[in-house]
Amino acid sequence: MAKYTKRADDYSKWYNEIIERADLAEHSDVRGCMVIKPYGYAIWENMKSILDDKFKKAGHSNAYFPIFIPKSYLNKEAQHVDGFAKECAVVTHYRLKNTEDGKLSVDPDAKLEEELIVRPTSETIIWNSFKNWIQSYRDLPLKINQWANVVRWEMRTRLFLRTSEFLWQEGHTAHAKEAEAIKEAEQMLHVYADFAEQYMGMPVIKGTKTEAERFAGAIETFCIEALMQDGKALQAGTSHFLGQNFAKAFDVKFADKEGKLEHVWATSWGVSTRLIGGLIMTHSDDEGLVLPPKLAPIQVAIIPIFKTEEQLAAITEKVDALKQALSEKGISVKFDDDENRRPGWKFAEYEAKGVPVRVAIGPRDLENQKAEVARRDNKTKEVVDWNGIEDYIEKLLNDIQDNLINRAKEFRAEKTTSVDTYEEFKKVLNEKGGFISAHWDGTKESELKIKEETKATIRCIPLDSVKEEGTCIYSGKPSTQRVLFAKAY
Ligand code: AMP
Repeated sequence: MAKYTKRADDYSKWYNEIIERADLAEHSDVRGCMVIKPYGYAIWENMKSILDDKFKKAGHSNAYFPIFIPKSYLNKEAQHVDGFAKECAVVTHYRLKNTEDGKLSVDPDAKLEEELIVRPTSETIIWNSFKNWIQSYRDLPLKINQWANVVRWEMRTRLFLRTSEFLWQEGHTAHAKEAEAIKEAEQMLHVYADFAEQYMGMPVIKGTKTEAERFAGAIETFCIEALMQDGKALQAGTSHFLGQNFAKAFDVKFADKEGKLEHVWATSWGVSTRLIGGLIMTHSDDEGLVLPPKLAPIQVAIIPIFKTEEQLAAITEKVDALKQALSEKGISVKFDDDENRRPGWKFAEYEAKGVPVRVAIGPRDLENQKAEVARRDNKTKEVVDWNGIEDYIEKLLNDIQDNLINRAKEFRAEKTTSVDTYEEFKKVLNEKGGFISAHWDGTKESELKIKEETKATIRCIPLDSVKEEGTCIYSGKPSTQRVLFAKAY
């Protein structure tokens, strides 16, 4: 059997192998871009449909805006352009031509009058439309979501976690009142956090970013931060309160009830295919991917063990009834009766693909009215009565979902440390990793020095952090609350 890399030996290599073995995605020839393969895309589709439903229930409508943004739009919001200019792909020409030596080259006569940016995020193009859509208080709130791809020319890339092109959703809302916009940004953060915990089984800390880590153009960035098995943090979703920055840049005003003109208040929020990277890194083990049942494209794999056609026919008849019973419960099943693969090969395959439950049934099981049921999360198996097996499996899927979040919460608790001195901070960071809760004086200087010296960043100022007098681990200056540090993806 092929030898695969273990997490403890080389985490990064292990991660790439998990993706390859589960057939989720592969690198493309363009650096930083990936091909998402059907099984990986099926996980994204599950995430999308759950989130989309949540957005609609929260009152958002889907729309679509162009991929190309005139350069002048990006220029309108100073901080925004500062943040994104360094990673923009730019379209300068619209035609190629054949040269004499038979090669293709850019046609110099087909130069665009105004260069176009491939969207890195859509605030500018959307607010340019909002200008026409919003006139009075009756047009507000305006709550739009877009499912799309975006391009950020990233230098350090990694499948799913950080790619140059990624898939995401971006919500963009406009409000009459500041407080209403802040509430919206907070509400969407809670939607993300609930999704991460209840569906992905990935516990997250909700917090705000420091000024240095804030989204370019935001007044406040709310985020959810998760902890991966190697002790590094992952920013899993963001929700921004944009104040009136974009309304001012694009001159979007509304007439209030008294007819007075005011600038509109804005939010934007997004999660991306990075979530799949987070999912992989939260649960998977040395044997392969581990998926939470609520997002698994295949929840139950049934594998027949047979030597003759007659045995297969008898098993198939039995299994058809189970498939029917499970689909009535909304459980997705794959009956793998491929005669060209041996059961052992199939066991390894579904293990690598993280299918939560595997059922194996052979001629002896048929006689005894039993089947072997194995769970992927803790790799235990049991021989179960065929009668009522669908209820057993349904409960098992719920148990697995619960076990995954509980296990991840325990891991995070073990890997979260409070420290009071910089020495302790560096020791924990190097020896244990994880989240480190420490006092910080609130200045950019201390934050950047700590980052320079240790590579740890302030992941967030947790929303539930309590006021506590202390001194900054770096400067010794007074501080009123702890923040969460970690090395991050
Ligand atoms: P932002 O617009 O920077 O707040 O990012 C919105 C969402 O996209 C966040 O959830 C990020 O985690 C995610 N994200 C940002 N950059 C990348 C990238 N290069 N690849 C994948 N996801 C990303």
